[in-house]
Amino acid sequence: MANKPNYLSVAVPVPMRQSFTYSIPDKLADLEFSIGDRVLIPFGNRQVVGIVLKTVFADELGDIGLGDIDKDKLKPIISRFDNTTRLSKEQVNFLNTCSRYYHHPIGDVISQALPVLLRQVKPVDLTPPACWRINDELSAADFEKTKATISKTAKKQVALLDYIANQQELTWPEIRLAGFTKAQINALLKKQLIFEDQIKLRPFSMSKAAVNEADKPQLSIEQSVIVSAINQQLDKFSCHLVDGITGSGKTEVYLQIIEQVLLNSKQVLILVPEIGLTPQTLSRFEKRFKVPVVLHHSGLNDNERLQTWSQVKQGQAGIVIATRSGVFSPLANPGIIVVDEEHDASLKQQEGFRYHARDLAILRARALNIPIVLGSATPSLETLQNGLQDKYQYHQLTKRAGKSSLASISLVDMNTEQVEFGLSGTLKAQIAKTLERGEQVLIFLNRRGFAPAISCEECNWICECQRCNKPYTLHQTQNLLVCHHCGSQKRIVRQCGECGSVRIKPLGQGTEQLEYRIQELFADYSSVRIDRDSTRRKGELAKLLEQVANKEHQILIGTQMLAKGHHFPDVTLVAILDVDGALFSYDFRAPEKMAQLLVQVSGRAGRESKPGKVIVQTRFPEHPLLQDLVNNGYGHFARYALIEREQAMLPPFSFQSLFRAEANYADLPMSFLRDISQGQFEQCMVSGPIAAAQEKKAGKYRFHLLLQAKSRNHLHQAVAQIIANIHCHPAQHKVRWSVDVDPQELSW
Ligand code: ADP
Ligand code: ZN
Ligand code: ZN
Repeated sequence: MANKPNYLSVAVPVPMRQSFTYSIPDKLADLEFSIGDRVLIPFGNRQVVGIVLKTVFADELGDIGLGDIDKDKLKPIISRFDNTTRLSKEQVNFLNTCSRYYHHPIGDVISQALPVLLRQVKPVDLTPPACWRINDELSAADFEKTKATISKTAKKQVALLDYIANQQELTWPEIRLAGFTKAQINALLKKQLIFEDQIKLRPFSMSKAAVNEADKPQLSIEQSVIVSAINQQLDKFSCHLVDGITGSGKTEVYLQIIEQVLLNSKQVLILVPEIGLTPQTLSRFEKRFKVPVVLHHSGLNDNERLQTWSQVKQGQAGIVIATRSGVFSPLANPGIIVVDEEHDASLKQQEGFRYHARDLAILRARALNIPIVLGSATPSLETLQNGLQDKYQYHQLTKRAGKSSLASISLVDMNTEQVEFGLSGTLKAQIAKTLERGEQVLIFLNRRGFAPAISCEECNWICECQRCNKPYTLHQTQNLLVCHHCGSQKRIVRQCGECGSVRIKPLGQGTEQLEYRIQELFADYSSVRIDRDSTRRKGELAKLLEQVANKEHQILIGTQMLAKGHHFPDVTLVAILDVDGALFSYDFRAPEKMAQLLVQVSGRAGRESKPGKVIVQTRFPEHPLLQDLVNNGYGHFARYALIEREQAMLPPFSFQSLFRAEANYADLPMSFLRDISQGQFEQCMVSGPIAAAQEKKAGKYRFHLLLQAKSRNHLHQAVAQIIANIHCHPAQHKVRWSVDVDPQELSW
């Protein structure tokens, strides 16, 4: 017994900032426990699944602060789960790092990283799916003889037999997809032509023959310089920024680097911002390499997620294409991480465990000692600064692949234009011209619904959500008022809440109204609206995008959703109706985000023979940021914006953390934040508490405390100190509080 641990330090999926110690009961004493084991433990009056963080010998209890404990008080674990679902040491270490960096409870971090089914008390079934193979115990002669007996009467059975012979092993979904039935399988089984087996799970490997050479273009000089630079460093950590305009061939660069990684039998993790992007990306990777590619995204059901997790963990998957939480994938044999569209806001989780998948990917690549490639046409200022400072290796792609040129951007001064339904005369004329040429138009308006408010014509009363003190958005097609802040809905108000007048009218314009107006103005053409409302149903987005590709619609109206990933080669005019909000926002990141959006949307348009044109409507055409962006491009704009950030000592020239607190009464979060911010903080500025920009939401009052420091160390110390203060505060359970390290969003 002496050389076996007696206790386990376990992470429990509860929002508590500690691990819990359990004993190993005698009946389990024969098992070898190790870090990452999933164990069933009693917790309060429940049973929960925990993850072993550490195995502890009796004489080590002192080291974890339990030296004086009555050992009999430590509860025994109930059981251990099958070790095929054990987390690797690397994973546990990484999750610990995440927990420390974001000051977030380890149990909750682990919960985020595990498929739901592995958090449940019920054991999971990871036996490989059944498949059918040709019965090779039958001699060739017997086989042909039996086959001949059915060749006339059962043509389908013969076809299935040939299909199986050709593919070696086939699962039921594959067989069904090819148009065969269970009855046909059973008939072949009965004649002993095939037998049932389990598919063989083995780590993937890829040979040169599995690369589709026909699909591979000759790289441009810029591209090949990048590919060979990175390919020479595949055996250790290095961080690369590939800064290349849309269509400059970044994805092709990833493909050719990945090829080398796959040939080395190592796995590739590709993080992408949106689920909408994954189908396109998937087909591109599948077309190039004959290796198993798996998708990880929020659209998977629990079982699919578990299967994916398992395929990655067993090393069968060669390529994992994943949205943000894929950064926790249990890679068996990792070779490289690619973060595409690294600037994209959806890589940051904005609630609960508020992590940034790009930043964690870098930490993980460093720990794994593998390279990581960040790509974007509009790199975030944080990443760009690291590139310019040579902290990352900085690569640029300045030309579009092939011969196509980038769209030109022009500004339309809304002060001097005749405006109808938010469209300037200039824009309307351009739309008409484009449509006449048989080309498509994309109109971009980042506001869903029919109108952002309804108001009384007599007294200017605005119908507001009482829980948020913000106007309700009118959704005409659903016949509803919807609060875009808390999601509450109510029937459309017909009478003024102030003066009783019935002269209620919509104020301003959203995509729904724009679609309606556009259909009036350009009645000879078909238009389609693509926003969260019109694509709510599963598969709807793909369907609408396909209709656009087939040119069933000439006019596309959409929100932010259209700025990502999709390419519209026949769109030659992009109109951006309103950018002014971002120019005067209190959020110091607003201009950066506006510029990224504008450049991303314009990058969606045009092709070789049909260059695109972008029209931006603004009341501030002289604004220096807009001028810089339009005349000099994103790269210039971003470098100038970095100078401004440096002068203002804002990130990336300093580091921030944000404490948020909310409660039903305003004075509670206010005084709570004031109390916990008492004390001396070394080289860290603490500002606030102040009311959040959106002070009231869903009936709660919300306040902020912002920490800023020049060094991460000082920032982390201050955050830890404040969290310690919180744990001594009597109101800690009366307010809802959270901490956000490297916040991206300061409005809440
Ligand atoms: P990005 O990811 O930067 O938007 P892609 O890699 O998708 O760019 O390339 C844009 C288009 O150009 C794709 O259709 C791609 O197949 C093609 N392409 C990329 N590199 C080359 C090349 N070297 N020669 C010819 N076509 C290329
Ligand atoms: Zn009124
Ligand atoms: Zn509301």
